Amino acid sequence: MAHDVVLIPGDGIGPEITQAMRRVVEAAGVQINWNVQEAGAGVMDEFGTPLPQHVLDAVAETKVAIKGPITTPVGTGFRSVNVALRKHFDLYACVRPCLSQPGDGSRFRDVDLVIVRENTEDLYAGIEFDEGAAEVEELSQLVERSGQKTFAADSAISIKPISIAKSRRIVEYAFEYARRCGRKKVTAVHKANIMKATDGLFLRVAREVAANYPDIEFNDKIVDATCMGLVQNPNDFDVLVLPNLYGDIVSDLCAGLVGGLGMAPGSNIGADCAIFEATHGSAPDIAGQDIANPTAEILSAAMMLDHLGENDAANRIRAAVSTTLDEGEQVTGDVRRAQTGSVEGAVGTQAFADAVIAHLAQGMHAANA
Ligand code: NAD
Repeated sequence: MAHDVVLIPGDGIGPEITQAMRRVVEAAGVQINWNVQEAGAGVMDEFGTPLPQHVLDAVAETKVAIKGPITTPVGTGFRSVNVALRKHFDLYACVRPCLSQPGDGSRFRDVDLVIVRENTEDLYAGIEFDEGAAEVEELSQLVERSGQKTFAADSAISIKPISIAKSRRIVEYAFEYARRCGRKKVTAVHKANIMKATDGLFLRVAREVAANYPDIEFNDKIVDATCMGLVQNPNDFDVLVLPNLYGDIVSDLCAGLVGGLGMAPGSNIGADCAIFEATHGSAPDIAGQDIANPTAEILSAAMMLDHLGENDAANRIRAAVSTTLDEGEQVTGDVRRAQTGSVEGAVGTQAFADAVIAHLAQGMHAANA
């Protein structure tokens, strides 16, 4: 059966890595009707928005999409298209497995942990007031009336909402994921010693939910101590569940444990729709040079194939990527540098995909022999 999937190439390195991903998925023999849709700064002039309605309509129809990264202007300009997609489709669970690959060049071996990041609230809610806005003065008065110390008059304010319902559903997702995938432990990450209201609520709800899963070990850890623990003993961790911002930051840290951003896949899951994308951004510093590592995007596609019930193809793709990295002969510059300290002998994005495709073919040949 052919699957209908929206493909959003994105910008920066997005078009290169999604092209490589698409070629690998097709070589694995999965029938996909790709509905290619553009979003981001490149469509602003034509549609007046970086996320046109027809893109949302297309994803609403297929309920499955895979995307390349999309650049968000820093400080000013339009808000993140990536965050907008997650909010629009209520893709509340961002799942990012971090698994050591032989040949990933990392200082660590045998890392096998999963980040489950809340994707819809926290400081990512997008409720913000610029310095000088009338609301800042009103908020200052409100805070004063509440009997708390107020803030400097020239402040800008970002609001951090953390709700009971959204905390509960993400922690439940983490426990259900742990059960389904045979994982042993869930760690709730927070800063409840300082943010007693918001992170305190998250922690309280996490403890309540944990009580319903006696078969899964549970502990909690303050986010700064978590970061230190991860770089010292990553094998102490299994599934981590985090509010949005900590999840974002700790995801990149964990990518660094398994060879870097080019290696870390991800998915954004809702009740009725899922969008798959690598953890990394659009990497403008290396865009258009055919040097980006497409591994994270290819492994995101493997997660998508699992979601579509194409587990055999997903496993074959993961095995082909792993063999390619393990051989170490046809790897991109980020991996080569991690392995040897130099990019000498590295191959390009599409050549890496070619090597993965060759290993896929060998695997299929061996299976048929
Ligand atoms: P980034 O992840 O794009 O890049 C950080 C570093 O990692 C850069 O040196 C880059 O060259 C390297 N890198 C990233 N992906 C790589 C790959 N596949 N292969 C080899 N090296 C890779 O982070 P940034 O520079 O902070 O962000 C750039 C833009 O991406 C920003 O506009 C940001 O908002 C956006 N962004 C988008 C997403 C998304 O689309 N989901 C996620 C994160 C950041």
